[in-house]
Amino acid sequence: MSSWGYEKRRVRRIRKQLKDSTRWLQSYMHGGRAILVSSCTSALEMTAILADIKPGDEIIAPSYTYVTTVNSFALHGATPVFVDIDETTMNIDPECIEPAITSKTRAIVAVHYGGIACDMDSIMQIAKKHNLFVCEDAAMACTSKYHGRMLGTIGNVGCISFQEKKNFTAGGQGGALLLNDTSLIQRAEILYEHGTDRANFMRGEVEHYQWQDLGLNATLSEIQAAFLYAQLQRTEMINSRRLDIWHRYQIALAPLEERGKIKLAQVPARTTHNANVFWIRLTDARLRSSLIRHLKEANVQAYSQFMPLHSSPYGKVHGYFAGEDRMTSIAASQILLLPIHANLHHSEQSVVIQELLAFWGKAACED
Ligand SMILES: *Cc1c(COP(=O)(O)O)cnc(C)c1O
Repeated sequence: MSSWGYEKRRVRRIRKQLKDSTRWLQSYMHGGRAILVSSCTSALEMTAILADIKPGDEIIAPSYTYVTTVNSFALHGATPVFVDIDETTMNIDPECIEPAITSKTRAIVAVHYGGIACDMDSIMQIAKKHNLFVCEDAAMACTSKYHGRMLGTIGNVGCISFQEKKNFTAGGQGGALLLNDTSLIQRAEILYEHGTDRANFMRGEVEHYQWQDLGLNATLSEIQAAFLYAQLQRTEMINSRRLDIWHRYQIALAPLEERGKIKLAQVPARTTHNANVFWIRLTDARLRSSLIRHLKEANVQAYSQFMPLHSSPYGKVHGYFAGEDRMTSIAASQILLLPIHANLHHSEQSVVIQELLAFWGKAACED
């Protein structure tokens, strides 16, 4: 038995586990080719190579996002150019993109925060006009839709996360790269195969495989792929439970918004979302830590989320904010995430709601 025979059998066994989830993604998402990877971050790192990012290039992204949205591009020498967000969604504000474009701009990275869609029509129009690559960071947005299309299937590529905080997980870590631009498939295959033409070898097209191009190891393990497939088959159930919780919060907390205490997300017309997070924005950001403490006393864990990247130690030196930071820093200091997950019990959610109402009830009396 040749060692090649052994290798082929081993690779085929792993691929079989990956195939079920890959097929599911390709058919459910109605996108292009899907590649299952070890994390959304790996998908973003592959994207930077596929977009041919070189030192000195610029990418346009929101500052209110997870660090790997831009670090993946910075790894290849790109300067992150941060632009402001829309206050109703916390997503990149398309109006701020065009003024930030320079002769060095290569890509726009659109993050669908909390699973709610960016204004993709405007983003795609700007990208087309200026010949820019569009990467959708759909880490949080698997199964959310924009004008009937799944998020992650609209840009040149879409990057999805199956990390533990996302709706569907591959046992803690996992991701997918959606290749909507079919001209990227061949290079992506080589990248994924650690820089070799092993895919051709596996199909019996070449006798040996060799180092052809840049590559990395972003393979999802067999166990994780099996775990993920079980989750994906429960998509409707997971999403509907999360959406019930999301809508209940939205209705129960509306009086606080009417009283001017908080702001709630607005879901853009002709989009659907997967209720990946539920956020409120405190009109008075100074109350956030006391609200967190108040909720903690009732055993409720509420969190702030991202610190703006443009004011981070690395971001300050290596990136810049283009235009005015009207919303990003303020919104980041106001936002608070409430518990939302498929196992959150109705009575547990009641406690969260009661405590939030009580917090401002008390504050109103003390005023
Ligand atoms: C979770 C997340 C990531 C990173 O996903 P991993 O799978 O953990 O690498 C990237 N971007 C955003 C917006 C995220 O929420």
